[in-house]
Amino acid sequence: MATKFDAIVVGAGPAGATAAYKLAEAGIKTLLVERGRGRGSKQVFGGRIYVTPVREVFPDVEKTAPIHRWVKREKISILHNSRILSLEYESPEKHSFTTYLTEFTSWIVDKAINAGAVYVDEVRVDSIVEEDGRITGIEAGGERIEASIVIDAEGVNRLLLEKLGLAERLSPEEVALGAKEVIKVGADKINERFGLEEDSGLAWLLVGEPTDYLPGGAFIYTNRDSVSIGVVVYLATAVKKAREEIYRLVEKLRLHPQLRQYWEDGDIIEYSAHLTIESGRRFMPRKLATSGLIVVGDAAGLLLNTGYTFRGVDYAVYSGYLAAEAAKKAFNLGDFSEETLRENYEKKLLGSFIAKDLRNHTGVEQIMHEVEFFEKYPVVAIDTARKLFELGYETPRIQEALRSSLKTHHINLLSFLYKMFKMVRKL
Ligand SMILES: Cc1cc2nc3c(=O)[nH]c(=O)nc-3n(C[C@H](O)[C@H](O)[C@H](O)COP(=O)(O)OP(=O)(O)OC[C@H]3O[C@@H](n4cnc5c(N)ncnc54)[C@H](O)[C@@H]3O)c2cc1C
Repeated sequence: MATKFDAIVVGAGPAGATAAYKLAEAGIKTLLVERGRGRGSKQVFGGRIYVTPVREVFPDVEKTAPIHRWVKREKISILHNSRILSLEYESPEKHSFTTYLTEFTSWIVDKAINAGAVYVDEVRVDSIVEEDGRITGIEAGGERIEASIVIDAEGVNRLLLEKLGLAERLSPEEVALGAKEVIKVGADKINERFGLEEDSGLAWLLVGEPTDYLPGGAFIYTNRDSVSIGVVVYLATAVKKAREEIYRLVEKLRLHPQLRQYWEDGDIIEYSAHLTIESGRRFMPRKLATSGLIVVGDAAGLLLNTGYTFRGVDYAVYSGYLAAEAAKKAFNLGDFSEETLRENYEKKLLGSFIAKDLRNHTGVEQIMHEVEFFEKYPVVAIDTARKLFELGYETPRIQEALRSSLKTHHINLLSFLYKMFKMVRKL
C-alpha cells in the first residue's frame, strides 16, 4: 500500500463510503479504511432510509440500490395489557425504503472502488495524526499514512475525535442502545400476514410493553423476505430502570402473543446491537472541520430520532457528499486550512436541511427522558380507549373516559395537557 494518498476516509459506513466515492470520482487518490471484517459488518440500523437526499447524491438509487421494499404504510402503536391502540398512515408514494445497511453500504463501497478508491477492511485506525496544528494523516497498526485531507466517518463511538480533543467522552445521557433481530419469513408470508403488496413495506413503531415501558421504542420493518425487529432504549434511564438485559426485550418482542403471528415459523438470521445518538445537536463536536480534517455522519452528531422516525443514513450520505465537495474545492485551491474547510463544509452543512431538522427538533431528547411518556401515558391511552370501545351499558364521553383514566393513574389533568402540548411542540 502506498504511504501517501490525497485523501483518507476513516470508516466505511454510509458517510465514509459516500465521501470516498465522490472523491475518487473526481480523480482524487483516496484510501477508505474500515476496521470491520467485510463490508458493513460493524454497522447496525433499524431498517429504513429516506430517499430524497440519497437521490440527490446517487441519482441511480432507485434503479441500482439494494432496495427491499418501499415503505407505504406507517404504523405507531401502544401495547399494554393485551390491547393495541394504533395510528396508521398509508400512501402510494415512494419516500423511504427498507434494506439491510450492510447491503446498502456495500453498494456505495463498490461505487467507490469502481471509481478508483483503495478500500481496505480489517484495519483499525489507531489515531489521526496532527502535526503543528494540522492533520497530516493516520496511524494504523504502527504504520503512518499521509494525506492532504482526512475525513472522519468513524460513527458514534468517535474515539479518534476524542483523542484529538475535538469531542468529549461518550456519556450515557447522550446515547441510546439498540438491539435487533432479523427474522427470515419469506416474501409471500410477509405480504399475506402484513397485508402488503409485492414491493410495498411497513414501518411500525411501538411503545409500552415492547420496551417494558422504558423511554425509547420498539420497531418492526418489513424487508423483501425478512422482518427486522428491535428495541432502542435511552441508556441513562435504562441503566437505572431496566429490569432485564436489552436482548431479552427483543426476545420478548419476538415472542409477544399479539405480534409473533407475523413471523411465526421464521428463522432468526441475524442479531446485532449498537449505540446510537440521542440528540444530534448536543452531540455535535465544537467544530466540524479543522485544518486537514472534516467530520461526517454520526461522528458529527447527524442523527434525528423523533420517536416516530429515525434519520441517520440519509444524513450520513448527504454529509459525506458535502465533505467531498468541500475537499474538492480545497484541492483546487491548494488550501486545506481550517477556515477554508469550515467555510466550504461546516457552513454548508449548518445551512442544510440536516441542521435545520436538528435545530427544529432541539429538546426532543428531554421528552424522551420523561418517564411519564413511556411509563404512564401509554397505559392511560389504552385505558381511555378501553373505556370508549369496550362498552357495557353506558357510553362515556371521550373527556370522561380520559379524566377517569388519568385519575386512576394519579395524573393531574393540567400537567398531562401541558406535557402533551410540550411534546407536540418539540416533535
Ligand atoms: C438500533 C439502530 C437503529 C437505527 N435505525 C435507523 C433507521 O431506521 N434509519 C436511519 O436512517 N438510521 C438509523 N440508525 C442510525 C444509522 O445507523 C446511522 O446514523 C448511520 O449508520 C451513520 O452512518 P456513519 O457512516 O456515520 O456511521 P456508521 O454506520 O456507524 O459507520 C462507521 C464505520 O466506521 C468504522 N470505524 C469506526 N472506527 C474506526 C477506526 N478507528 N478505524 C477504521 N474504521 C472505523 C466502523 O466499523 C463503521 O463501519 C439506527 C441506528 C441504530 C443503532
